[in-house]
Amino acid sequence: MTKIKRIALVAHDNRKTDMVEWVEWNWKKLIKYDLICTGTTGKLVNETLLKKMEEEESKAAISMKRLKSGPLGGDQQLGALISEGKVDMLIFLWDPMTPQPHDVDVKALLRLATLYNIPTAVNRSTADFMISSSLMESNYQPILKDYGSYINRKIEIK
Ligand code: PGA
Repeated sequence: MTKIKRIALVAHDNRKTDMVEWVEWNWKKLIKYDLICTGTTGKLVNETLLKKMEEEESKAAISMKRLKSGPLGGDQQLGALISEGKVDMLIFLWDPMTPQPHDVDVKALLRLATLYNIPTAVNRSTADFMISSSLMESNYQPILKDYGSYINRKIEIK
């Protein structure tokens, strides 16, 4: 990653209001990036950005890749993109109070974000700190652990 370019946005239903408000606050910054969203979050983020751009008569273009809805595979699609090095940052407003049908996918997504050491916010205040960071415009390179010895481990076939 040279500088943060590709930002993934995901919010569970009870956190979608938070996400919409956060996007309203930060729309001017967000339209500079390539956004990657799960389905329903993406629809709301797109509508919010369009509304703000219309209000402010902005002619900017929105760059957004919309994946499937999270419970229908979107979280897993996003995890796959992270493993391919195609996501620079994740804002994931997950709901700590409600069991989700796709809990295992949520866990997998957070695991891959940790494994690949991408900046990850799981609440609004962390998202605020991240979007305001001077590192957003710098040549930040997340350090990746070397999994060579794991990949080349000896498997004893019995
Ligand atoms: P959604 O998915 O944006 O399609 O609602 C979010 C999630 O639950 O991962």
